[in-house]
Amino acid sequence: MPQYYIWTIGCQMNKAESERLGSFFEQRGYQATATTEEADVIVLNGCVVRQSAENRIINKLNALKSLKRGRPSLTLALTGCLVNSDIEQLKKNFPHVDYFFKPGDYPQWLEKAEWTQALPQHPPPSVYVPIIQGCNNFCSYCIVPYRRGRERSRPVAQITSEVRELVHRGAKEVTLLGQNVDSYGHDLPDKPDLADLLSELNPIEGLVRIRFLTNHPKDMSSRLIEAVAGLDKVCEQLSLPVQSGNDAILKAMRRGYTVEHYRQLITRIRRRIPEVALSTDVIVGFPSESKQQFQQTVDLLAELRFDTVHVAPYSPRPGTIASSRFEDNVAPAEKKGRLDKIEQLQERIATEVLVEGRKEGKWQGRARSGKLVFFSSNDDCLGKLMKIKIERTSPWSLQGMVASSNTD
Ligand code: SF4
Repeated sequence: MPQYYIWTIGCQMNKAESERLGSFFEQRGYQATATTEEADVIVLNGCVVRQSAENRIINKLNALKSLKRGRPSLTLALTGCLVNSDIEQLKKNFPHVDYFFKPGDYPQWLEKAEWTQALPQHPPPSVYVPIIQGCNNFCSYCIVPYRRGRERSRPVAQITSEVRELVHRGAKEVTLLGQNVDSYGHDLPDKPDLADLLSELNPIEGLVRIRFLTNHPKDMSSRLIEAVAGLDKVCEQLSLPVQSGNDAILKAMRRGYTVEHYRQLITRIRRRIPEVALSTDVIVGFPSESKQQFQQTVDLLAELRFDTVHVAPYSPRPGTIASSRFEDNVAPAEKKGRLDKIEQLQERIATEVLVEGRKEGKWQGRARSGKLVFFSSNDDCLGKLMKIKIERTSPWSLQGMVASSNTD
């Protein structure tokens, strides 16, 4: 039986695309293998948001040179954000790679018609569904628009029939993915938006929950807030990266909104959806961020009390506006101190959990708010909705025990 090996790093978009590739190979009689040595096909799906991630892919590609030399029949393919518009240059740099395909594109060695059917035969209870690729925003620190290209939305009808099929095969929850889901549809003929798409998906029988990420504070519409408030299957969970609590830093980041705009948006959301779980992202140590400016970020987080805060230290990404215009002048130890301070602000609570699988002897699932929850049970909990009493919290997950459960 031929074997395939897929190596993935990066965001949920990459994970979703790798899941599809894996399903595609399995439908054609391939078996997954854990080692490159046994594989007949190797696909590397990499992230370049940080220089360290790009270095990891390049190291991996270089490490595969001798394997390909010793076994020329091996198929080696590269996808993810490293595959930009200059594929000719990539071919020159990595001549041992057989195929390069952009994120979201179909692999060229397959028929396009075959690729569009590459949904998992037995999907897990919760699956990712990409709805828009690329980004038009050009935030000064971000490499994504250069690598993933401009925004390209998938048609509503295509996404709807895909979700229907995934539910038919056993999925209960979908997470719609995009770098900026609030831009969804503007490039399609009838200009549908995310609220329209959610309205199409909500009635699908057997579908229990719908989530989506990531939002952009400057693009999020009142229609979308109304859709989340009004559609019963859309989870009351929003990811809305603020990045900084200081207007000068937001301007240097080219985020396109002010702190006050953001504050008012959160107020509107909470007024309309009182039970909403909000998560945000923050970058600490952006060039020239003073202690005072950082403190404004801490104050904003304390004021708005998010359920989850993802915090990352600034790291310059060659090719971005920030890396060419600004000096990376906040010391690493200072960045680390700022990161620790924000992590200490986080608190979590969980209640109802949809169980997605097992990890290291424990069941694992997510609350409606998206919080990752671990608990122990001897029962088969996969796919069930469980009530979990939280006993311990850590910065990125919750640990609890079963209070009661019910099945859909
Ligand atoms: S919105 Fe900004 S941070 Fe997000 S992908 Fe686009 S450019 Fe990058």
